[in-house]
Amino acid sequence: MNLGPRLRQPVYLAAGLVLVVCFLMLFFSSLRELGLRRDALKAAEVDVANLAQSLVQHAEDSFEMADSLVIGLVHRLEAEGTGPVALARVQSDINFRKGAMGRVRGLFVYDDKGRWLATSETVDLNAFNNSDRDYFRYHRDSTDPGLLIGNPVKSRSGGQWIIPASRRFNNPDGSFAGVVLATIDASYFADFYKRFDLGSTGVITMLQKNGIVLARSVDNETSVGRDLANSALIKDMHGRPSASVYYFQSTFDDSWRLAFYKLSDRFPIIVVATESKEEVLASWREEAIFRMALVFILILLIGSTGYYLVRQLLERQRIAAVMAAKEADFRLLAEESSDMVMRIGLDERILYASPACLRVLGWSPEQITGTPALAGVNPEDLPHVQETVRDLKLGEIEETKLIYRTRHHDGGEIWLETALRATRDNVTGRISGVVAISRDMTEHKDLEARLSTLASQDGLTGIANRRNFDERLQTEWRRAAGDETPLSLLMVDVDNFKKFNDQYGHQAGDACLKAVAQAIAAEARRPGDLAARYGGEEFVLLLPNTDEIGCASVAARMSESLAALNIPHALNPPSKRVTISAGGATGWPGAESANNHPSLIAAADRALYAAKHAGRDRFVMSGQVVAWRGAESA
Ligand code: GH3
Ligand code: MG
Ligand code: MG
Repeated sequence: MNLGPRLRQPVYLAAGLVLVVCFLMLFFSSLRELGLRRDALKAAEVDVANLAQSLVQHAEDSFEMADSLVIGLVHRLEAEGTGPVALARVQSDINFRKGAMGRVRGLFVYDDKGRWLATSETVDLNAFNNSDRDYFRYHRDSTDPGLLIGNPVKSRSGGQWIIPASRRFNNPDGSFAGVVLATIDASYFADFYKRFDLGSTGVITMLQKNGIVLARSVDNETSVGRDLANSALIKDMHGRPSASVYYFQSTFDDSWRLAFYKLSDRFPIIVVATESKEEVLASWREEAIFRMALVFILILLIGSTGYYLVRQLLERQRIAAVMAAKEADFRLLAEESSDMVMRIGLDERILYASPACLRVLGWSPEQITGTPALAGVNPEDLPHVQETVRDLKLGEIEETKLIYRTRHHDGGEIWLETALRATRDNVTGRISGVVAISRDMTEHKDLEARLSTLASQDGLTGIANRRNFDERLQTEWRRAAGDETPLSLLMVDVDNFKKFNDQYGHQAGDACLKAVAQAIAAEARRPGDLAARYGGEEFVLLLPNTDEIGCASVAARMSESLAALNIPHALNPPSKRVTISAGGATGWPGAESANNHPSLIAAADRALYAAKHAGRDRFVMSGQVVAWRGAESA
């Protein structure tokens, strides 16, 4: 069988399982309840059957008792006749027995005309004639000597319903001489039957085999004598066993009833005991409702738990699908971006590189995945980059931007501007690495450099730039030549500045250069003075109309104001402060050397070199060495 893809998912399997468990619980509980219901009915059937059996026994005993009295009288009358003496003896015999007849209510003797000959009742014998009674006519017309249990009749003497049990007695020639009758009150049976508990609607009935009601535990007075010959039970009696359980719908109230009938094998009577099926099942029903309620609660619990879990699973699947789609989107963004996207692990190796890295670095993503991420970074920029990455990994900063140089596959160096951001594990929230988005800044940097040479100001320090200085030197040199005034130049270089960068980072280096530039520029006090950044950490101060002494004193002031800044530089012994070395030169350009201004630079440069060579943190005036005031010698 080919299940659909949805059915193969564990979620639907789980849902199906919950449904099956619920269904099985319901199924087996119902099955069990049906079994218990059957048991309850079975037990009630047995009870009713036992009762009916013993009630038939009771009825048989009653009629036998009556019959033994009747037989005694029949014998006596047939032997002694119905003469006055014999009758007197019969009457006295009846009177004698009267107190001990038990359930037999009355004894009667009638002659062949239905006249009363003797009785246990205290009545006037001449007042009645019973020739109209069914049993009398039966005995008169039939030679059957057996006992007849007749249809119930209203007693002539007492007015109550009585059941007649009679035999005929014969003259010596065998002709009809009369009838001996014993009666039992229908109410005797009815009262006896009432003693048995068959529930509020249970009924016990004794019937003639032909369907005439003899006694009934309920409504006896109105029920006795009714002809039930047309009832289903009596109509089909021939084909039935002598005792059986059956169910029928009551004609009184339409309710279903459980019944048991038993046919006597000695007399043509039937005893039927019935009980309401409803009542038989009442206690089972009550318990069944309780048990099924528990089962339903359990099913509800299992069902709702299952429903909740399935919902959760579906929700999780949905979220997973959304995440996958999101990731696909982001991957697309990373892959299509012109910026180079990299994911860097905690070991600083590249976990992922977007295709743009081929364009930016010249390496394919496959080539650099797994390699150290900082491998190509320019050694000068490396410490700062490393420090930044370390801070990201420690969580000290969340994101930052860096500009640094790195090697290209072709051997050249490029500038990268990189946005860095720490990534965190979705579950634990711990930092899992760094995402770097880099853009090639080389062109921008070149442009920046070109622009700064084109402009007159230095981009970093804000003082004049090299180009500006070159122009001014030329014009001042010419002017000095014309005016025959001296022109001095101070060339300044920061000591051990490479180590400063290494120690404090490139940005701190920049800040330091700015401070040094301000200090130098502050010494350009005269309108013609020009402080300029000559390149890197080298500065120049052009001093028109200044001789050697003026030049040296400016140099001294400059050194002092720098010392006042007091910038720490641990790797610059012995002062461990930022210091400068300076070389000074004074030119007296004549008309013949109007174009020889580079010689002034060369002289200042040589003096600077000498200052460096002599141990730094000092000033050399071309040709002579003058130590800074207060400087310790290196
Ligand atoms: P010395 O005492 O011999 O002058 O040693 P030094 O380290 O200062 O000399 P060197 O010329 O070897 O190094 C100069 C350094 O200055 C190299 C470069 O990293 C740094 N530098 C040049 N321009 C800049 C800049 O614009 N900013 C910063 N932060 N550093 C610069
Ligand atoms: Mg230098
Ligand atoms: Mg230097």
